[in-house]
Amino acid sequence: MDEVRCDVLVIGAGPAGSACAMTLAARGCAVVMVDQHTFPRDKVCGDALIPDAIQALRRLGVLEQVLAEAWKPQQVRCIAPSGRSVDFGATLAVLPRRRLDLLLVEAAINRGARFLSGLRFVQPVEAAAVGGRVVGADFQPSDQRNAHLHPVERVRARHTVLATGASTASLLAAGMATRREASAMAARLYVQWDSRRNDHDTASQGGALQVIWNKGLSPGYGWIFPGPRGVYNLGVGTFQSQPNADPKARNLREMFTGFVAGNAVAHRLLQEGSVLGRLKGAPLRSTLGGARWWRPGMLVCGEAAGSTYDFTGEGIGKALETGMLAAEAIVAGMSRQGAGEDPGPAYAASLEGLQTRFELYQRGNLINRSPWIAEVLVGLARASPRLRTRMGLLLEEKITPDALLSAMGLLRMMCARNLQG
Ligand SMILES: Cc1cc2nc3c(=O)[nH]c(=O)nc-3n(C[C@H](O)[C@H](O)[C@H](O)COP(=O)(O)OP(=O)(O)OC[C@H]3O[C@@H](n4cnc5c(N)ncnc54)[C@H](O)[C@@H]3O)c2cc1C
Repeated sequence: MDEVRCDVLVIGAGPAGSACAMTLAARGCAVVMVDQHTFPRDKVCGDALIPDAIQALRRLGVLEQVLAEAWKPQQVRCIAPSGRSVDFGATLAVLPRRRLDLLLVEAAINRGARFLSGLRFVQPVEAAAVGGRVVGADFQPSDQRNAHLHPVERVRARHTVLATGASTASLLAAGMATRREASAMAARLYVQWDSRRNDHDTASQGGALQVIWNKGLSPGYGWIFPGPRGVYNLGVGTFQSQPNADPKARNLREMFTGFVAGNAVAHRLLQEGSVLGRLKGAPLRSTLGGARWWRPGMLVCGEAAGSTYDFTGEGIGKALETGMLAAEAIVAGMSRQGAGEDPGPAYAASLEGLQTRFELYQRGNLINRSPWIAEVLVGLARASPRLRTRMGLLLEEKITPDALLSAMGLLRMMCARNLQG
């Protein structure tokens, strides 16, 4: 058995794992990050970077590099069931995950992290002598044809961070899953618009991130996100946060077909553009639930800890943020007690600080379930520059969604509209 030793083992090299490894390596920790894939690798995603992601990338010192390659929309366009829409401004970017995640992994390596790819996490290594504390993990080559060459690779570490995304199997193997089911399912398709055509702007409707609600998409939404070099990311997601609701119950392919048939921009993109690859779906884990956040020797961050927002399905920003929080808790624990205080409780406290916002986004799911609310909001926002500003501030995380989404808030908005009208 091959054995590697380090201060911190990070399992998973998505945004959460890379942000964690980057932060730790920059603080002088010996970090080994392991992923089942070799990079660049694809990740099914809408590829949109909303303000929390932009902010986190800035803190990590990689924003300039990301923006140099990204498409930079200026607006989000919300489209109600009637087809009426409203735009509001925010700091946004779109970069395919194949490229974004590679940039992040490279940044972690440049800061001193060691990256082992093509190895699948099998199980944690537990030290019976210290109450089953996690002291590393065992891996197998992802490509089973090489399994006989390296039967098991063991990484021993003082701390292990699990950042394996929405994979329930990894959470179960680590003994951290509290819920098997995903919170949501979503699917996306890339379409290439001929960049030599001078009507790129017409096709992209001004280049905004378009989010579409209607009854056919409920309890979810559709999106059209323009990306760099005329490649569009089109998709649908279905969100269910009621306990026991199975998000897979909706057929994403049928949902996507209905979406394209009912949306003129999506329809035109598919008719006149070239489809790249096929429609691909993936689960999402949200509400900061579905997993234990820590156990002695192990922290869970990113989507593995449910760090994707309900309602919008945005998760890159909070994956980066929770990765940094895990790293900070580890560094603080090490400096407090030389040999290392368990960072679990401090990390859990920092996640609790995010919980109110996650609960509010969970309530926002009401819009996905009842698209008429989107109709009301769009109607009100079209008439109210103040509301449009507030929608931008909400996305920038400068205000919380409760003012926009509470029943009383909606009632007040409807009354105000009636008084105005
Ligand atoms: C269709 C769709 C659209 C989305 N659109 C957006 C969007 O537009 N904007 C946004 O912000 N968010 C979006 N999200 C959510 C976003 O993709 C996630 O929140 C984000 O990827 C979470 O990052 P992560 O690092 O926690 O996990 P991931 O990005 O999933 O990374 C986990 C890593 O762990 C590795 N791994 C898993 N299991 C193992 C194992 N056993 N051994 C070794 N390695 C392993 C994987 O290979 C992967 O590299 C979307 C999600 C979906 C499904």
